[in-house]
Amino acid sequence: MDWTYNSVAPCLLREMGATGLKPCGTLHRTCMKKTKTKDSHLLEEWDKAHLWHPFTQMKDFQAEKPIIIEEAEGVILRDIYGSEYIDGVSSMWCNIHGHRNRHIDQAVKAQLDKVAHSTMLGLSNVPAIRLAKRLVEITPKGLNKVFYSDNGSTAVEVALKMSFQYWLQMGLPEKQRFIALEHGYHGDTLGAVGVGGIKSFHELHKPLLFNTALAPSPHCYRCPLHKDKETCKLACLEKLEEILKKNCRETAALIMEPLVQGAGGMIVHPPGFLKGVRELCSKYDVLLIADEVMTGFGRTGRMFACEHEDVVPDIMCLSKGINGGYMPLAATLTTDKIYSAFLGDRGKTFYHGHTYTGHPLGCAAALASLDLFENEGVLEKLQPKIRLFNESLNRFHELKHVGDIRHIGLIAGIELVRDKKAKEEFHPGNRVGQEVVLEARSRGVFLRPLGDVIVIMPPLSITADELTRLLEIIYESIRGLESAREQYF
Ligand code: PMP
Repeated sequence: MDWTYNSVAPCLLREMGATGLKPCGTLHRTCMKKTKTKDSHLLEEWDKAHLWHPFTQMKDFQAEKPIIIEEAEGVILRDIYGSEYIDGVSSMWCNIHGHRNRHIDQAVKAQLDKVAHSTMLGLSNVPAIRLAKRLVEITPKGLNKVFYSDNGSTAVEVALKMSFQYWLQMGLPEKQRFIALEHGYHGDTLGAVGVGGIKSFHELHKPLLFNTALAPSPHCYRCPLHKDKETCKLACLEKLEEILKKNCRETAALIMEPLVQGAGGMIVHPPGFLKGVRELCSKYDVLLIADEVMTGFGRTGRMFACEHEDVVPDIMCLSKGINGGYMPLAATLTTDKIYSAFLGDRGKTFYHGHTYTGHPLGCAAALASLDLFENEGVLEKLQPKIRLFNESLNRFHELKHVGDIRHIGLIAGIELVRDKKAKEEFHPGNRVGQEVVLEARSRGVFLRPLGDVIVIMPPLSITADELTRLLEIIYESIRGLESAREQYF
């Protein structure tokens, strides 16, 4: 690839004054001069010697120079050499109010002065109780019970086991199966993988998984039913109804990511789909599990994606942004009706619980994060940024290799294609998404692609200037493909 402009990229982050430093005005690469940690080289060695990174081909990783983060502030991550990167994916879609937010820092420190951890098995703790009450207040009406765990996958495991056991205890033991959407992603534990719909992630472990019925995803750019978005009248709902009709007797629940399928490529659903799914689930007596692990806490412009279509699921999974991206914490919320089915003799107990369930530090951070939403008008302040985001993304359509731009709130997925007209994909071996991301990295932006979909999901606290800068760098990094070497074409 012809990345000649690499060498003239100024140190953008200091220009923005994000760290309070004066613009250095020098070349970005030459800003990588301050070695902050004395044993940086050893850290790189030890990383390669001992760490096995998630979702990473370690053979490739061994050949690369790792970026090792030492500190961060606001939307800026800083590595052990003092190089800075805009956190363009909110540290894996979690961070909400920026790094080292004072209010959350203080809340965690204050909780540390009381107790770091005490078990929820047989005991309760103050922040867990307060947080449960607040989660019930802000989630769709009727979700009155909160079951904690510690990550998105476990929130989903809880939802799956809960829905199966609910029907069992309601006298319908045949309801054992699940319906999920193609391109769906719900985590990496086996139950969550069992309802996954991404071939490259989920196919391999199939022999270990239960038998889920996959319904077509409303992926309008690559419609599985070969329809046109303008005229299809949501034909995918008809297909889903067929599947429900055929399988409802044995189906406990349908699980979906409401409004946006994240890991599947930031597939934004057309209006009306979510509401349609809710109606069909009610019609066929199948529980609806809304996995809001990624979409929750403001990402889509509303507190929860379900709010966009006034949908109340039977079970809702939350994690990632629950405490601003500070600590592992998750919650699975459900209705009084489902909860009541678990009351009775010991056989009806929900035998599930993780050691760090309802962790006081995580809950204290979550309470502080909700304070910020309430007191600082986070969602109100977000709206002009979303407008700026939308306007700036429009410009990307002019780029030769941008096939589709899917976005909602402060989430975007830009699908890169070899041939725009034919929607022809690049050869996966070319790792075009990764090339763009590496280019953006050299210009001071950290991103992580999903194949050839460039994901943009900055913390909600990003300023308009930072957002503009982030998008400019990504634009230029994608534009670089136009002068790429022959091998891509
Ligand atoms: N559900 C969704 C929608 C997700 O996006 C993710 C993570 N990307 C998960 C579940 C799993 O969360 P975790 O990685 O915390 O287990």
